[in-house]
Amino acid sequence: MKTIDPNRFRDIDPGQRVLMGPGPSDVSPRVLQAMSAPCIGHLDPYFLSAMDETQQLLRYLFQTDNRLTIPVSGTGSAGMETCFVNLVEPGDEVVVCVNGVFGTRMADIVGRIGGKLTRVDAPWGRTIDPEDVRKAVEGKKVKVLAVVHAETSTGVCQPLDDLAAIARDAGALFLVDTVTSLGGMEVDVDRIGIDAVYSGTQKCLSCPPGLSPISLGPAAVETLTNRKTPVVSWYLDMGMVADYWGGNRKYHHTAPINMVFALREALRIIAEEGLEARHDRHLLNHRALVAGVEAMGLEMVVAKSDRLPMLNTIRIPAGVNDAKVRGALLKDFGIEIGGGLGDFAGKAWRVGIMGHACRRRNVVLFLSAIQTILKAEGFAAGPDVLEAAAAIYDEA
Ligand SMILES: *Cc1c(COP(=O)(O)O)cnc(C)c1O
Repeated sequence: MKTIDPNRFRDIDPGQRVLMGPGPSDVSPRVLQAMSAPCIGHLDPYFLSAMDETQQLLRYLFQTDNRLTIPVSGTGSAGMETCFVNLVEPGDEVVVCVNGVFGTRMADIVGRIGGKLTRVDAPWGRTIDPEDVRKAVEGKKVKVLAVVHAETSTGVCQPLDDLAAIARDAGALFLVDTVTSLGGMEVDVDRIGIDAVYSGTQKCLSCPPGLSPISLGPAAVETLTNRKTPVVSWYLDMGMVADYWGGNRKYHHTAPINMVFALREALRIIAEEGLEARHDRHLLNHRALVAGVEAMGLEMVVAKSDRLPMLNTIRIPAGVNDAKVRGALLKDFGIEIGGGLGDFAGKAWRVGIMGHACRRRNVVLFLSAIQTILKAEGFAAGPDVLEAAAAIYDEA
């Protein structure tokens, strides 16, 4: 028999961090406490009512009346896969907008499930041009038009209204990734006309990773119902999953009970704050962060009109050691930020101010920490950094 010495392993004790990267974000103690409730059965009446309440709170968050609004078991990428595997059959025309990592991931999934992919590309750090999308859908019978609302790899916010109109005119389903935007800026599913949407718990919802809220509108449900072929993923088949979350309570897979408790608490916190106040808070802290960053003499990667409030990409100045700066932020200040991905690797820092982490205290801590570190690196940071940020808060 193989043996192991259990005394080699200590208690889990990671210490406190300030999570200001692309996710996960800081989790509220209330959410952690909800997670530590006793685990009960997935058909326990208490859990069934917690499921219903979670769905009600999710409909408020997505601003939708869609009945099929549920948290998929899995992280944001599981939500992405759920939407594509349920709506796309082999040979279906799918148009995917690509201007970063997550659009690229969508295109990858479409290829894997045999969809006929047309990509509409834009340079990293820029928005997708609706004219390019219009040309791409022309003359095709497009099943799904897919786009990322908040491209976390670049910090770009994609306006949705024009693309929703193009999808509507083309008779295509409009599928939107709101993993990073949901809970930090407006995602008004019914008003915009989004047919299928997914998100994740660990960005602006400030819940640990593990669930992916999704919502499918009437046209998406009809598409699902009229499929000619079975959904290729058994686990993510929304027909069967909805039978559990909907009326029948028919066992499909065991719901991650304590993750649902956590999400319910995170959503309750959001409802208490109110969506408008929450979005305003993200915008205010973003403006203060940018004011401080620019006063320091650093440059934002994305043009002012296209910036996300919750994910800020900052150009790494020439001669500054990326890994060293991020290492010092973590070691000396407990702050985690993200490095660049893909085209932006080594070129940009990604600073998240998401959900619970989106507060003045963190903005000021980050600005003073990076200022200190950059000075040690020989970068001549401007002097009035904290004053520039304070001026934004004072105006508000
Ligand atoms: C984080 C993220 C995802 C993937 O979510 P995971 O939880 O890492 O699976 C998808 N899309 C966007 C825009 C994201 O930021």
